[in-house]
Amino acid sequence: MADDVVSRPDPTITEDNEFFWEAATGHRLVAQRCSDCGVVRHPPRPMCPHCGSLATEVTELSGRGSVYSYALLHHPQNPAFEYPVRAALVDLEEGIRMVTNLVGMETAEIEIGMMVTVTFVPTAGGNAVPVFEAAPR
Ligand SMILES: [Zn+2]
Repeated sequence: MADDVVSRPDPTITEDNEFFWEAATGHRLVAQRCSDCGVVRHPPRPMCPHCGSLATEVTELSGRGSVYSYALLHHPQNPAFEYPVRAALVDLEEGIRMVTNLVGMETAEIEIGMMVTVTFVPTAGGNAVPVFEAAPR
């Protein structure tokens, strides 16, 4: 992949998700945890979906998970991505599901339930995006 030529687009940073993207740029994977009931949630949002609390803290995630599902995207093509894009839902150890990409593997190697670990790819403006690769066996 020619990621030294064209980089991925930057994330859209909002008041709610700024902590997530700041951590990702530092190659750390984090999520919100409710300060009242302890439920971990993703994507970022102001209110706990479990108890309705607005009290939130940020928790560090292990970066380990398993592939829940995936899709191969062929169009429309953007030169910043290698095709087919392996769009995936990854179930993280902490009980949240993340929309992401699978990298560093052939399409034929992808299996539902395979163990994956987080890695990060740079974006055009100096941020980074968490993606997942096959976990070491
Ligand atoms: Zn809660």
